[in-house]
Amino acid sequence: RSAREGERSLSTMLNWFLYKRFPRLHIRWQPSHGGCGKLVSFISGAQSMSSRTLNLDDTLYDYLLTHSLREHPAQTALRAATAKHARGGMQISPEQGQFMALLIRLMGARNTIEIGVFTGYSSLAVALALPDDGRILACDISDEYTSIARPYWEAAGVAHKIDLQLAPALATLDARLAAGAAGQYDFAFIDADKTGYDAYYERCLQLLRPGGLIAIDNVLWDGSVAAVAEDNDTAALQDLNRKLHRDERIDLSMLPVGDGLTLARKR
Ligand code: SAM
Ligand code: CA
Repeated sequence: RSAREGERSLSTMLNWFLYKRFPRLHIRWQPSHGGCGKLVSFISGAQSMSSRTLNLDDTLYDYLLTHSLREHPAQTALRAATAKHARGGMQISPEQGQFMALLIRLMGARNTIEIGVFTGYSSLAVALALPDDGRILACDISDEYTSIARPYWEAAGVAHKIDLQLAPALATLDARLAAGAAGQYDFAFIDADKTGYDAYYERCLQLLRPGGLIAIDNVLWDGSVAAVAEDNDTAALQDLNRKLHRDERIDLSMLPVGDGLTLARKR
């Protein structure tokens, strides 16, 4: 065998030993041809490129959008209009909308729920991905916010798919359950008042079919979930994150998309 192959098998054995003996140190031995090699960490530095999620600076975020974003013109126009709104920061990011649209298509979803509509960008992204007979039960309490949405839903030709219910979301969901709609929905997006999330999650879990998906927004809450909670919203998100982590009714993935997006698939 060549010297290079010998080095490789030696490093495989050494790295197996390092992994078994020090599993939490995340170190490995990196051979260097002609030299004696060195110990490297694969948590930080160049060796770690795929072992944790990247931080996106503005340049890389621009690159991501330039090289992947596909929007209907009504979505672009709605984003521009919402950017001028005093509460415009509540809108989901466009790449998150595109990701949710992909999930809808992957699942072949037809019946969906949205809790927290605002000016309608997330509904628009989902509605565009639904088949013509697909529906969104869209829950919000604000006529002021949601009336901004309708012209854009109409311009995109999807207004007929969006059943906007102006009432506290819990009342709308409970009414659907009382009407016997348990198990009839494929997908739900939760993005309204954070202290209501747990109740919305429980109702959505009943309304979804097995294999249905709940997407929960803002689960990282600008990073504040990792510190001691100083307000009710942060505490509610921390409690829900803790609960979902051990909830055996679902399959779980928490993604660092936007402000943190948890995907919970009903088992
Ligand atoms: N998903 C939206 C988007 O992408 O543009 C953003 C939703 S915004 C973060 C939250 C929305 O939840 C607001 O429009 C607010 O009126 C609504 N909301 C707050 N409390 C609610 C409640 N109890 N029931 C239903 N909607 C509520
Ligand atoms: Ca949100």
